[in-house]
Amino acid sequence: MLKLSFKRRLAFLLCLPLLFAACSKQNVSPSLPPNEEIERDFPDRFPSPIPPEYSQEQDEPETPPVDPEIWDVSDVDISHINPNRKLIAFTFDDAPKRTLENILAVFAAFNESNPDCLASATVFFNGYLFDDTSAQTVHAARALGFELGNHTQSHLDLTTLEQPTLQVEIDQTDTLLEKIDGKKRHLLRAPFGKVNELVRNIAQTPILDWTIDTLDWSGVSEEEIYTSVYSARASGSIVLMHDGYAHTVSALKRLLPDLKADGYQVVSISQLSKAHACPLKRGNRYIRIRKSL
Ligand SMILES: [Zn+2]
Repeated sequence: MLKLSFKRRLAFLLCLPLLFAACSKQNVSPSLPPNEEIERDFPDRFPSPIPPEYSQEQDEPETPPVDPEIWDVSDVDISHINPNRKLIAFTFDDAPKRTLENILAVFAAFNESNPDCLASATVFFNGYLFDDTSAQTVHAARALGFELGNHTQSHLDLTTLEQPTLQVEIDQTDTLLEKIDGKKRHLLRAPFGKVNELVRNIAQTPILDWTIDTLDWSGVSEEEIYTSVYSARASGSIVLMHDGYAHTVSALKRLLPDLKADGYQVVSISQLSKAHACPLKRGNRYIRIRKSL
């Protein structure tokens, strides 16, 4: 048995009440308020010796509170967007298919020779089209600065689905895209543009429709795709095109320089929202994004 000197035994006995007081915070008797309340009261009874105005928290720059209902564009780069240009958003649905590489190549070539008018776009992906090869193209799109959007897992008419299936359709593609861009949620484009109240309630992001439908999926010519965009061009418009069609790629080769020559810059949806100071709201549908007055 440990032998203690008289002085040490005395010191130990004197410390006992202190030890008991420290432990009693953990073993609260039924008559005392729960721990949570004790913790909450603590700062009032024992105010910090540092005045609040000098505390570290106060020194940090104030950031505006994030509104979960508004699509966050705080990290969207618009430094290359010329404020004097009219802006038009290009979108490509049903990706990734084999022509996505060609679409990226057209943008890359244009941007290389037009550093004063860099072009970008939003590509809406279907999860079922992802495999090891196509996922590499999605990485390439991301690396080129394209915005990745959600076109659902299986390209079903969302208005025919019950809530659990609908949720899975959106979540699965978000998860695939998160592995590439690190974002939990992505702008939603409903297959066939079909949206009902349930889809709007389930969507965690804005839903993007379009101003100009090129109908490029229906076998129209390059000239018809080109004309449908160029003749209806307007600042704030959203153009709908698709991955998977050679005529879309060849029309794109003409559209990028011709729109630039007419004072336009081609951008992604989030760039358009930020540059036009037009916040997009969760569950709302947008057919164009005009400049806020
Ligand atoms: Zn589609």
